[in-house]
Amino acid sequence: MRSTRAVLLILDISGYTRFIHQRAVSLEHAEGIITELIEAVIDEADLPLKVNKLEGDAALLFAECAPDPALQLRQTFLQLGRFFAAFSQRLEHIRRKRGHCGCDACANVEQLQLKALLHQGPIVIKQVRQFEEIAGDAVILLHRLLKNDVPASQYLLLTADARQPLGDLCAGFERLEQAIEGMPPCAVYWTPSLPQAPDGLRDRSATPQVALVTQGALRSHTFHHLPRPWWHRLGERVKHLLPR
Ligand SMILES: [Zn+2]
Repeated sequence: MRSTRAVLLILDISGYTRFIHQRAVSLEHAEGIITELIEAVIDEADLPLKVNKLEGDAALLFAECAPDPALQLRQTFLQLGRFFAAFSQRLEHIRRKRGHCGCDACANVEQLQLKALLHQGPIVIKQVRQFEEIAGDAVILLHRLLKNDVPASQYLLLTADARQPLGDLCAGFERLEQAIEGMPPCAVYWTPSLPQAPDGLRDRSATPQVALVTQGALRSHTFHHLPRPWWHRLGERVKHLLPR
């Protein structure tokens, strides 16, 4: 067992509970759809960010971030757009592939949405047989934040500990004072889903999130649903992260 500091990320597919409970007859298709979506999203994670475990309709990922939490947070933050893009892309693929099926699960696949929760803090890593378990208040806090008052079903939520080192990257985020079961209330920051990388900018070797900014793609029609000041500032702020 050892103590360390980590960036923690939960990727959660919302709509799942309603999806399953109201549509028992299509349970098998619903499970297949969720599995396919989670796989599509976590396949986009780059080391040192790695999947710790799958939790039904969600995945818990973490990256040890000592001695430089700010660097690891920024690297994780820049992967998030790719996760949302992979989710939307796979959702569309599933919708087309399953268009012939009239079951409730396949017919309502577009109701599924992705949320991402990001935090950083001290954790304990312990080995249980072949499994690597992570524990600590930071892990508990992030899970409890799955129940929150964010008025959206697809979003990115940051705790204050995650937001602070990211600085102006999160300038357009909404602040919310969030009550948490069994813990003191805390400030969280959220935004609707991150921009999707346009086609042709998905080459991971080119660090898509950064490439996307440098090629001016943030000004494309893909991002019109986001407030201009937010994505414009993002483009300006991440330039210094580019490889020289
Ligand atoms: Zn079906």
